[in-house]
Amino acid sequence: MTRTLSILGVTGSVGQSTMQVIEELRAQGRELPVEAVTAATRVDLLADACRRLRPKFAAIANPALLGEAREALVGLDIEVGAGPAALDEAGARPADWVMSAIVGAAGLSPTMAAVRRGGHVALANKECLVCAGPLFIEAAKAHGATLLPVDSEHNAIFQVLTHPERVERLTLTASGGPFRTWSREQMAQATPAQACAHPMWNMGRKISVDSATLMNKGLELIEASYLFGFKSEFIDVIVHPQSTIHSLVHYIDGSVLAQLGSPDMRIPIAYALTWPDRAHVSTSRLDLAKLAQLTFEAPDPVRFPALRLARAALDRGASATTALSAANEVAVEAFLEGRIRFLDICRTVEEALSHLEGAEAGLLAKLPSSFDEVRAVDQAARRAARLVAGNTAAA
Ligand code: NDP
Ligand code: MG
Repeated sequence: MTRTLSILGVTGSVGQSTMQVIEELRAQGRELPVEAVTAATRVDLLADACRRLRPKFAAIANPALLGEAREALVGLDIEVGAGPAALDEAGARPADWVMSAIVGAAGLSPTMAAVRRGGHVALANKECLVCAGPLFIEAAKAHGATLLPVDSEHNAIFQVLTHPERVERLTLTASGGPFRTWSREQMAQATPAQACAHPMWNMGRKISVDSATLMNKGLELIEASYLFGFKSEFIDVIVHPQSTIHSLVHYIDGSVLAQLGSPDMRIPIAYALTWPDRAHVSTSRLDLAKLAQLTFEAPDPVRFPALRLARAALDRGASATTALSAANEVAVEAFLEGRIRFLDICRTVEEALSHLEGAEAGLLAKLPSSFDEVRAVDQAARRAARLVAGNTAAA
């Protein structure tokens, strides 16, 4: 079977793992031509991906890098584009399967371009779902697009969702991140390098910081609610440091189905790429005897307020989740750039949301009816978060 693919965010952690899976399947004789790939700034990695995958089109988000990208791809017979329109074109080009692996709300527009084509959209990017939730799901339905969750927890649920109408509740597992056993005093001093040193997963910097605050699990709670259609009270979070059980589905007869595997993103990526089939992929195999035990603990709401913030936003509605995600992006960037401290991340998000509430009464309670409205809430939340982060940095 020939399947044409595009990879949005090919230079990132998920993008690189996707490329490895594609190369392995190609080595088995599968025809997997690549239509388009994208990057933001890393021209060297984009050029490497182009040499390996031979796409027809490559887009770089930063327009200032167009010349450099063209030069790096000379002789490869690949069309090169730059800027937001080129990213959208990469998403819109004819491909049977599009991997959405750009980080942040920047992934929304190119992913929507893919959704509008109605093909298979493998969704690693969680922010676009968190920020545009119901509208994104509606658009996928309207255009006949099939959403294939790649985030490991949602991929796990997707794999064991045999009877969606007979589900009682969902449980998302969380590794607990690098600060699972740290005191609040220690967390107050945490550096970006420590926050990015995840004990189980090797990921991009933004999601690594989100894993350290547990905001990643908060975003995943929202993602699960929109993807699978469950209210927040039907979704629990449990800390499971071994990251072996990737999530669980509880059925009304008392059965609980879970998907297990090594913490290796190539597993959910391969599942999304070969769905509804499976293929041999040399991902790390699970050795239960070596693991010896699987442990679980409740998340600590005092050290990790992000879960409470995310749940409150989800209960509030789609504008609140848009604002939460946007404010979090600003706060994480400020932390990574050394402008605010680790514990200020959630504080910034919380204060930005209450600032918005005060400035524009009713804004967060309103359901956005268009992507323009989503963008307006996103921008307002970013402005509020920048203000709060700026005041925090100055204090
Ligand atoms: P990375 O930071 O490693 O990669 C991000 C990708 O997006 C890169 O290709 C980057 O290009 C590109 N990019 C960054 N900013 C922009 C922008 N403004 N416009 C266009 N492209 C941009 O992220 P990850 O691979 O870790 O994560 C990608 C998404 O997948 C995130 O939403 C994350 O939450 C989700 N995810 C990731 C997991 C993981 O294991 N890493 C697991 C589950 C979900 P460049 O390299 O040139 O900067
Ligand atoms: Mg995840």
